[in-house]
Amino acid sequence: MAILEKLLTLGYSKPFAERYYQLWGERALRIAQAMEKPLPRCFRINTLKISVQNLVKRLNKKGFQFRRVPWAREGFCLTREPFSITSTPEYLTGLIYIQEASSMYPPVALDPKPGEIVADMAAAPGGKTSYLAQLMENKGVIYAFDVDEDRLKETRINLSRLGVLNVILFHSSSLYIDQLGIEFDKILLDAPCTGSGTIHKNPERKWNRTMDDIKFCQGLQMKLVEKALEVLKPGGILVYSTCSLEPEENEFVIQWVLENFDVELLPLKYGEPALTRPFGIELSDEIKKARRLYPDVHGTSGFFVAKIRKL
Ligand code: SAM
Repeated sequence: MAILEKLLTLGYSKPFAERYYQLWGERALRIAQAMEKPLPRCFRINTLKISVQNLVKRLNKKGFQFRRVPWAREGFCLTREPFSITSTPEYLTGLIYIQEASSMYPPVALDPKPGEIVADMAAAPGGKTSYLAQLMENKGVIYAFDVDEDRLKETRINLSRLGVLNVILFHSSSLYIDQLGIEFDKILLDAPCTGSGTIHKNPERKWNRTMDDIKFCQGLQMKLVEKALEVLKPGGILVYSTCSLEPEENEFVIQWVLENFDVELLPLKYGEPALTRPFGIELSDEIKKARRLYPDVHGTSGFFVAKIRKL
């Protein structure tokens, strides 16, 4: 019970403190404590404009030091930042993009190739879209959707600064993506979520979220996944990700997908296997193939990634 009290002292609402204790036991406190600390500043080298090797040399010369992000060849987290990296010409001319390490995982998992037809169903502010473009060497097309006009403005600025040329942006819900009449090779659904893995940046999420918020997001996530599977080619790949730690937005969505669609889950290498018995509810053993990143172990925001092939 001491754990519960400590979670309450950190600012978690009682229902969520109890919920997390039920889900993780004593680890709930380690996860919560890790999210009290700021995340390291990480960045992605924009290989549309410069090689990894050249950029590393340039930043090292200026006194910046960094460690690699294990799952992203172009990703690094700063261990020494003598002055703000955002004031360097490297940042200002789009040779790098500031991006959390966890956010680099879904584009790498999707592994888009030059020339493919790709959709990004929740794109703004364009962090993952621009990584997809980079992996595609600006060849092929990315149809990128978002509903939020302000975030789309930021997306346009980001894509332009990074020299991304193969993205068509839609100010629209991706629930209407079928109206394009396109079959996609690959789809990224970095779904809107409650964001409980981002408490480092959004501490109010400790006390202001409710189960209704989780249920609302889960409903939208299921509709978006269903739409994604409708417009994906047979054999095509869907990567589903969230920055939520809630099983209802992650494992339960994937369980529903496995039960209702002709798909298979593909294995992912990095992170911890997703939960197969959250809250004592038995899920398919397959779900282990999806992955979770945890603040206490991986030093990232809380994150979930699943890779699905349409059969
Ligand atoms: N993928 C983005 C990135 O890496 O920069 C972050 C996306 S954020 C997790 C989720 C986004 O989903 C928000 O920008 C939100 O505006 C958008 N969104 C919410 N409902 C949507 C819908 N029905 N269709 C498209 N986008 C939606």
